[in-house]
Amino acid sequence: MNQYLKGHLRLLAVWLIAEFMGAVMVTGMSLFMKQVADTAYGEGGLEGIQGLLLLGLVLVVVCLAVEYLGHYCRAKFLKECNLSLKRKIFDRIIHCDINLFQEKNNGSYISLLNNDLRLIDESYFQVIPLIYSNINTFLVAFIVMCLYHPLLAALQVLLCIPQILLPRRFGKSASAKQKEYMDSLDVWNAEVKDIFTGFEAVKSFGIEEKIKERYRKIVDEVEKNGFVMRKQQAKSLALSSASLYMAFVLQTVFSVYLVMNGEITMGILLGTMQISNYVNNPVREISELYLEYLTIKPVLARISAVLDGTEEAQGKTLGIEVDRVTPLCLHKLSFAYEDGRRILHELDFRFDSGKKYAIVGSSGSGKSTLLRLLMGYYAQYEGEVYCGGKRQTEISGQSLYRRISMVHQRVFLFDDTIRNNITMYGRYSDEEVWKAAEDAGLMEVIRRMGDGLDSRIQEEGRNLSGGEQQRFAIARAFIRKAQVLLMDEGTASLDYQTAGLIDSLLLDKEGLTLLSVTHKTEKELLQRYDEILVLEQGRILEHGLYDELSEQSKQLLAWNCQGASDDN
Ligand code: ADP
Ligand code: MG
Repeated sequence: MNQYLKGHLRLLAVWLIAEFMGAVMVTGMSLFMKQVADTAYGEGGLEGIQGLLLLGLVLVVVCLAVEYLGHYCRAKFLKECNLSLKRKIFDRIIHCDINLFQEKNNGSYISLLNNDLRLIDESYFQVIPLIYSNINTFLVAFIVMCLYHPLLAALQVLLCIPQILLPRRFGKSASAKQKEYMDSLDVWNAEVKDIFTGFEAVKSFGIEEKIKERYRKIVDEVEKNGFVMRKQQAKSLALSSASLYMAFVLQTVFSVYLVMNGEITMGILLGTMQISNYVNNPVREISELYLEYLTIKPVLARISAVLDGTEEAQGKTLGIEVDRVTPLCLHKLSFAYEDGRRILHELDFRFDSGKKYAIVGSSGSGKSTLLRLLMGYYAQYEGEVYCGGKRQTEISGQSLYRRISMVHQRVFLFDDTIRNNITMYGRYSDEEVWKAAEDAGLMEVIRRMGDGLDSRIQEEGRNLSGGEQQRFAIARAFIRKAQVLLMDEGTASLDYQTAGLIDSLLLDKEGLTLLSVTHKTEKELLQRYDEILVLEQGRILEHGLYDELSEQSKQLLAWNCQGASDDN
């Protein structure tokens, strides 16, 4: 994390110099106070007053310049630090391996970007330089005080010691409490995100009260943890204030004693009283800031963990580029998720270039898992997957994703134009976009929406039907000339007629290798597939043309055809 401070050393240096000049200004104020007493008790008369006024005015002007410079540099420094950190974190998340990403709820990433980064700004970027600048003030004030009276200066420093020790005493537990607080904020974020995503379900089941109850529990926990954390800090802050007052009292009494004994003048008493604040306050501030820094340590660790993610966590960016990914061959392919339970068992199969495959099987038989494996989402499988003769593990993720497209049941549409939703921000000519739209059967939609390719799609495609959304996913595959299309129950939520039209569209697409997990398919359509793969409990039960399948498999298909939609 230090790299962010170091990365903007020049700005930081100017800020600190301005702060240092601020500290020197403090000495000016003390001199002014000394001058006040000396003028009042001396014989300078009107000239003395004029001098005093002039000194005061100079101080004000210098103060204005120094303060402005300090605050300006601070603002600029914070902007640069936050900007580079926010960008870097987002880069890391967006390049994260899909499995690792999905281990957490999206809400926790939002929490990271919001809460954690805000804390880093307030309690790290702002705090570390402030600690330095307070050290500056302390040193300057201490030196001036030594010049006034070394014994007083020594006493002052002695009285500061309790404040230095306090954060050490409270730091560890404050840090633990902070971590609990941040973790509960994470949960809160995830929950809120889920509730808003499922808003429709909440309404249609009328479960507002239940949801309120759940929300209340979580938010109670968050605020309780926040309170415990601040309560922990309260003890330390109160003790610190008390010891500050104690130092002030003892110091003043001792100074008065010195004045009575004629060891110092009234001017020096006022001067030292003025400057003693600048010895005390920085120590107090440093102790508070240091406590804040200790509290933020778990957050720093969380951020660092994201920033220092391993290459593995960064997804399959390495690897060779390939032009062809077909045929797709499975060789003794076995797979288990993290829990170790085997989902796929030694599959051997070859998906030929340009052929159309239907994959059927009952719920949980591993169909989606197989497609995700082919997409290159998981690397921890046994056996081999060959894409166009190359081991899948050797091919770069980019290369795979460009040539293999997956159509999900829920298509994600951006709140953007039709063009961008088809090109997915890639560079294509209008002709290419129109062609893909036409091939995917989107012309009707585009006509309806009025603004051609520039028509806007509303958030998550609210102004489109399910079938139309599917067609967007297909247009995306067409425009990038994907060689393989993986369809995971893409049409499951559509009515038979629309589903049939989309299936037909894909079956007619020449050169496209289609693997379609399907269960809403009529016999006539199934007969058009080159091969049907029946998967049961992670094994290929049988495969072949529809008419070659056993009665048992056909029954399975017939059952699925009745519209079982539990299955995804
Ligand atoms: P299908 O698509 O045929 O219904 P899936 O491939 O989705 O089946 O799931 C096969 C099995 O793998 C199921 O038992 C399911 O519970 C399990 N499974 C799916 N995804 C995960 C996951 N991310 N972690 C652990 N188990 C999973
Ligand atoms: Mg599935």
